[in-house]
This record gives sequence, C-alpha cells and structure tokens, in this order.
Amino acid sequence: MNGPLGFLVLGVGDAFSTLHYASCLLVGFERQWLLIDCPHPIRKMLREATEKIGFSLDIDSIGHVVLTHLHADHCSGVEGFLFFHRYAVKQKPVLVGHESVMSKLWSGHLAAGMETSTDLSTGMERTRSLEEFASVVHIPTQGEVRVGPFSIACRTTMHTVPTTALRIRAGHRCLGYSSDTSFDPELIDWLAEADMFVHETNAGIHTEYEKLCNLPGNLREKMKIIHYPDSFRVDGAEIEPLREGGWYIV
Ligand SMILES: [Zn+2]
Repeated sequence: MNGPLGFLVLGVGDAFSTLHYASCLLVGFERQWLLIDCPHPIRKMLREATEKIGFSLDIDSIGHVVLTHLHADHCSGVEGFLFFHRYAVKQKPVLVGHESVMSKLWSGHLAAGMETSTDLSTGMERTRSLEEFASVVHIPTQGEVRVGPFSIACRTTMHTVPTTALRIRAGHRCLGYSSDTSFDPELIDWLAEADMFVHETNAGIHTEYEKLCNLPGNLREKMKIIHYPDSFRVDGAEIEPLREGGWYIV
C-alpha cells in the first residue's frame, strides 16, 4: 500500500441493503488516504475491510474526506468522524466537495447533532460551527483542487439532490467515481478519461445494469460496479462488481 494509486472497498451496497455496507471507498497513495463518502458505521467498516487485507488502519490516519452528496447512505458517518477527530484524535480533518454539496452540510445535516454544546455542570449552552471541527475545501466547477497528494475534479450527475462524480489523480494515475446518477453517457465519457472508474448501478432513479453492459468494450473494461442491490448476481457478472475488503490498483 506504499505504492501506486489504489483503493480499498469499504462498502458496495445501496441505502437499503441487508448484505452490505453503504458504498464507500478509501483511496490511498503513498500512505496518504482520502475517503470517498462517509457512511455510518465508518470505523467498523474500516476495521473489517482492512482486516481482510491484513492491514491495520483507523480513521485517525484519514485526514481527508470527499463528499459526493448528502443522502444519508453517503454521509451519515460524518458526524461521528468529526467528533472522533475532535475528541480522540485531536486533529482537524479536511472535508472536500463541490459548493453545491458542501453549502448544506452543516445547516441541512450536521447542525442538529453538533451545533449546540451544553456544559452539563453549568447548563450553559455554546453554539459551534463546522469550522471548529473541520476545514472545508471546495472542488471548483471547472479544473481541480489539490488535497494532499490527490488532485480532484468533479462533474454534476443526474440525481435527486446536488451530487457530483469525481476524478481523482495521484502519481500519474486517475480514478473515476460516478457516485449516484441516472444513466448518463456524457458522464461516462468524462469518467472514462480516468485509467479506471467505478460506476453505480441500481433500480429506479439509478443506472440500469443492462445499459452499462451495452456500452462499448473499451468502456466496460475500465469499469467496476458499486451501489448494487442485494439481488445483484455478483458471480459471473459481465462488468466486475467491487467486493468489500478488496484492494484495487488503479
Ligand atoms: Zn443518493
């Protein structure tokens, strides 16, 4: 894990899975780590995935989290991640995302559990802000932003809330990640500029697996599947599904 750009799969499931954790990847390059989305229970997910590859890593080693959108199956672990960093690690992590995603992270998601701090001995209430817990870095609409060794670009997807796909570069390699989206050939072309990309599949508002299978071979060869339903037939699948605890070199 010292070497080239790679990622560990922490979760592959959708929001309703009884078999898998919610979709989540830990990207690594030269022992620096970037979490893509942060569902609950992130520490348990991390422990189980790292155990499978004989590696030990806790979230105190993860200083960067990029969020694709604010549906709970992608961001329900952020509160715990931030409290753990504040009180156990005593470091301020960096949260990364497009402004359309990050603008509601505090007011629309985290504030309910984090904004008020009551001193239990005096009853005094103190109001806190996101900046007490994390630094926020925005991914620009055009171009990319650098965090640690990673250069990150994003592109809006077709989803019910503001959502971005990602391209993450480090060490002359590039990983694409669709996040949640309806089938969007232009998005797939954008992702395919990466050396490897991870694409979602599911029913309803998501991308039908058959549509991905009908793409040209040069696209399918670069593609891995995530966010699949419990009913998805993993064995013998035409496009390789990611597996929890798998380590993939980009
Ligand atoms: Zn979603």
